[in-house]
Amino acid sequence: MNTLVAGGAGMIGSHLCEALLRGGHRVVCLDNLSTGRAENLADFARHPEFTFLQHDVTLGLPDVGRGDRVFHLASPASPIGYQRLPIETMLANSVGTRRLIELALAHGGRFLFASTSEIYGDPLQHPQQENYRGNVSSIGPRSTYDESKRFGEAMTMAYVRTHGLDGRIVRIFNTFGTRADPADGRVVVNFVTQALRHQPMTLYGDAEQTRSLCFVTDLVEGLRMTIECDRARGEVINLGNPEEHTVMEIAKLIRDLVESTSPFVFTPPAVGDDPRLRRPDISKARALLGWQPHTPLETGLREVIRELRVVLNGEVPAPRRAASDPMRVTPPSVAPARLHRRASLRSGPEDPATR
Ligand code: UDP
Repeated sequence: MNTLVAGGAGMIGSHLCEALLRGGHRVVCLDNLSTGRAENLADFARHPEFTFLQHDVTLGLPDVGRGDRVFHLASPASPIGYQRLPIETMLANSVGTRRLIELALAHGGRFLFASTSEIYGDPLQHPQQENYRGNVSSIGPRSTYDESKRFGEAMTMAYVRTHGLDGRIVRIFNTFGTRADPADGRVVVNFVTQALRHQPMTLYGDAEQTRSLCFVTDLVEGLRMTIECDRARGEVINLGNPEEHTVMEIAKLIRDLVESTSPFVFTPPAVGDDPRLRRPDISKARALLGWQPHTPLETGLREVIRELRVVLNGEVPAPRRAASDPMRVTPPSVAPARLHRRASLRSGPEDPATR
């Protein structure tokens, strides 16, 4: 099976590539590395069935072979990322979507568009079901992302209806995990980095806004199940963790796990129009795919903390726990790439076909 992962060097994309390789796919990863990172591919870059092409999906596609499965994750996705690259974000989700759909159509392949919970905007329905149409500003600071994802959804459905595309849409809610860019400003990496450095943790607004955090390996399993599900054709499906926390709760949990002395500081949001509430209703994913996340928040956070301790090695004080503690610091001789592999193999999803 030839599978194209556009945006495969991002946090989610790289875990997806790795899981697909483990499941026996031949994987071509396209990424322009505007927000993705080549180092995210280090653990499997030499796999014989893996190819990486640095390429922008808004330009004509290179020869990537058959597109039996095409995942479109090629877009900046963090508020800081799409604020920095507003036009690129809009083109990736419009022009890029069309190019990737055409590739899937040319080979009778399946297409999955990675949309986002941001299309619900600052939601007036809680939790958010797929039939909720959202509360989005078309000109606000998040609009380049929200509106271009909405456009990408519309484009996907237009091709399903008029060209017989075997396409589906997934709305991804907040996802965290290893391989996240520490500079992309998202809540988990910001808090973990700040806590490890014992620096002030930046709580935006009153920190009473909520998010529901899904661990990346759970999310990747959902993406794979969605593209393989016949009944998901022409459907839009929420994927995320329905367990909801305030930002304050997330900050306290991370500070406790790190055993940090960081104080909390309240600052204005980095990007405006910060949604107050966000929690997916995943009834549809449960019914259609039999999917739900299973990694506890604390387990996932421990993985991220373990990784960032190594990445920031030398910059952060050693943890105060005893050597017998499972969170003890990893010897500096172990390279981060090796750690990635161990972490992902331990927690990665099995191939559904081999269960
Ligand atoms: N947030 C925060 N401090 C930070 C980073 C984020 O309080 O240093 C808050 C942010 O205001 C939002 C939530 O955490 O309410 C999640 O932000 P993130 O950037 O991870 O993603 P979003 O859900 O806004 O797309």
